[in-house]
Amino acid sequence: MNRSVDDQAARTPAVAGVPLLDLARQHGPLQEQFAAALAKVCQSGWFCLGPEVKQLEESLARYSGVKHAIGCASGSDALLLALMALEVGPGDEVIVPSFTFFATASAVARLGAAPVFADIDPATFNIDPACVHGLLTAKTRAIIPVHLYGQCAEMDALLEVSRAAGVPLVEDAAQAIGAEFDGRRAGSMGQIGCFSFYPTKNLGGAGDGGMVTTGDDKLAEKLRLLRVHGMEPRYYHSLVGVNSRLDAFQAAILNVKLPHLDRWTDMRTESADRYTALFHEAGLDRLVGLPRAMPHRRHVWNQYVVRIPDGRRDQLRSFLAEAKIGSEIYYPLGLHEQQCFLYLGYRRGDLPETDRATAEVLAKGHKLAGPNYLKHRSLSPKNA
Ligand SMILES: *Cc1c(COP(=O)(O)O)cnc(C)c1O
Repeated sequence: MNRSVDDQAARTPAVAGVPLLDLARQHGPLQEQFAAALAKVCQSGWFCLGPEVKQLEESLARYSGVKHAIGCASGSDALLLALMALEVGPGDEVIVPSFTFFATASAVARLGAAPVFADIDPATFNIDPACVHGLLTAKTRAIIPVHLYGQCAEMDALLEVSRAAGVPLVEDAAQAIGAEFDGRRAGSMGQIGCFSFYPTKNLGGAGDGGMVTTGDDKLAEKLRLLRVHGMEPRYYHSLVGVNSRLDAFQAAILNVKLPHLDRWTDMRTESADRYTALFHEAGLDRLVGLPRAMPHRRHVWNQYVVRIPDGRRDQLRSFLAEAKIGSEIYYPLGLHEQQCFLYLGYRRGDLPETDRATAEVLAKGHKLAGPNYLKHRSLSPKNA
């Protein structure tokens, strides 16, 4: 996701219009608890890892229904650590969606392995299991489904592909904390789950942070080592790891916020249902592709994303900008077409559903935008 836009969105005051994201509304009532929690960290002198991080790891493991949770510096690092723990390296291939945030694929490339891009299911925007199956080779070392926008990928089919091929699944759950597939939580189904606490995520810190989850004791031990330079005991290194500690300030803020997460998720669901009802009321549901929570899944609505077909997306976006209604395109270009991945040899048309999604998707602000949003010319049935 575009950091400068997100940073700006997070700072936009809620005076006029509808900001893309209004964090002040969520944080206002918690200011005193934040201050107390941060003061406690200062007094303790534990700034990296330590008891606040341990508490968060335990709470998140419980929340996500997984045995181990290991805090790290960001969601991007969580993905990198996951692939390091699986010993992905040069000559290996890792299957990822092209329609996702950059970090899903950059973790693969940074380890010298090749990202292999799969297309998406147009109904959910998530990686297409049949496509994944077709991309397996003797070099495939991992598959990374992304639970995009807050809805789990088709995990039954993906777990089947993974089991049959003996290739581990790493869930990119950065946008999907608390999401469920058949009652199982995001991050608890694959060998490893990866979370982000970037401020725009459903559980956001006051800066960067991340978490890796796993049910496997050996992998957990390895992940704990890898985040501290493979060091144990002090100054003795059994693995070449990285510095990816979660700091105590972030954990302290997140420990204050986690107990509210389910209530916030309910509010997101109510907003999503309300948007959908308004689109139906206005008769726009035939012109705009509306997002749907699929059966047996708990969608946590990190983003409410519609499809605006027939090349009218950008026109609508300009109208929204004039009306001071925040919107964003997640994502405008598939990763297979990014300049830094041109060396992989993909061409436009290789992943048709990804290309179509990049041309059609639009995410809107988290507050109700009001009737003007629905009155735009480009959306009016008369104009169809
Ligand atoms: C945000 C995000 C990441 C990276 O998380 P950071 O904490 O920003 O490094 C990875 N994957 C997806 C799908 C994301 O949305």
